[in-house]
Amino acid sequence: MIDLLRLPGITPMDLRDDGKILVIQAEAQEPQVPNCPTCGTALFRHGKRVHVFADTPLEMRPVRIEITRQRFRCGTCGKIVTLELPFLDDKRRATRRLVDSVRERCLSKTFHSLSEDTGLAVNTIKNIAQDLISDMDREVRFETPSIMGIDELNLAGGMRCIITNLATMSVFDMLAERTQAVLKPFFEAMSDREKVEWVCTDMWRPFKRSFAPYLPNAKLVIDKFHVVRMASDALESERKKYQKDLDKDARLQIKKSVRWLTLKRTSSLTPEEAVALAIVKKSVPDLGVAHDLKESFYEIYDQDTRADAMLAFKDWEKSIPAKMPMFKSLAKTVHNHYEDIFAYWDAPTRITNAYTEGANGITKVANRTGRGYSYEVIRAKVLYHKLAREIGSVRRLIIQEDPSPSAGSGFLMAKWLPSGLLSTSETIQVTEYGPYLSTLVAAAEAGEFT
Ligand SMILES: [Zn+2]
Repeated sequence: MIDLLRLPGITPMDLRDDGKILVIQAEAQEPQVPNCPTCGTALFRHGKRVHVFADTPLEMRPVRIEITRQRFRCGTCGKIVTLELPFLDDKRRATRRLVDSVRERCLSKTFHSLSEDTGLAVNTIKNIAQDLISDMDREVRFETPSIMGIDELNLAGGMRCIITNLATMSVFDMLAERTQAVLKPFFEAMSDREKVEWVCTDMWRPFKRSFAPYLPNAKLVIDKFHVVRMASDALESERKKYQKDLDKDARLQIKKSVRWLTLKRTSSLTPEEAVALAIVKKSVPDLGVAHDLKESFYEIYDQDTRADAMLAFKDWEKSIPAKMPMFKSLAKTVHNHYEDIFAYWDAPTRITNAYTEGANGITKVANRTGRGYSYEVIRAKVLYHKLAREIGSVRRLIIQEDPSPSAGSGFLMAKWLPSGLLSTSETIQVTEYGPYLSTLVAAAEAGEFT
């Protein structure tokens, strides 16, 4: 029989077709009789045993190897020794190469399809994936962002926390929960903490308390879109007030047409829409006022300088009529977070979490993720996505003159040698910023996370 297996130390003897599975019977090659690992005396042969191990598929079918191995017994201490085979996995009844190939695929294929391909139980695949994830968590380090976004995200049955690099548009990390108990140790353990200059989050107060003690150079800026969204919410509550007295059909009609007409920025309305909006505003004056308040609140962010923005806010606040408490409470919220909201104009660039592929992108990824996965697996699928990581990295070619050890100072010697005689060493230095968001979105759209 030809050596189908090409595994050192065993010889295949027979092949049996067991329906769905191919079974290969193999004999371990006769070893030199070892000494007892406990007491050192020579061992005696002590019968043979057959053990079954899963191996990589052949002909697209799962493979089992039945290996007959010699056992040895120590005449002095009674210890029984089975010959070790280096190609077997330490933890599972499988070859190392099978475990490796499962590790290679388990973050891009479903556990069920891998279980079908290999004949391993779904739970075994899950365990292999879990080992891989712990290894990755230990080994993979992404560059600490100088501009960091912190956001929450509904994923795998809970509100999770996602940390992004807003300068490179990549994911830096994901945390199971957005609580101080999770955030504080995360920031405390983060390397290069002094590199973080800006943190962009929503108005959730505990965020600041979670990172402020650990990021000595970080300044908080409250995400613009979380701020302006409150003006849209205030407008919505005015619209609902007005349609409360209408019958169901009219309410539905209003919801369909007036809602988006008023929520849209005036600047992006078509001429027809602008006419329609003008009619709505004329026939429901209160809604018209609320709409103007929403628009002028958004315009605060159109200001070029912090001073102009603060002035625009002051004027806006004065224009709120007493009968619109939602806008009053929006003004109060702005006062409560005043410094962190107006820090937007202090940053060297306009920092926001809602960059095209950012908050939206990661939501798209979350929405397209299979329900069968645990949060830990989804996190690993996103964070350790191979292509997205590669695109989120920067490679630099480092050429170093090789200092000759006999010459003492390599640098001095190099000066006196013709350049052709210099030996150089080239290394590629890879800086990883984390998986690139656009690549993740494309992968999610291609069904990689389902
Ligand atoms: Zn012994």
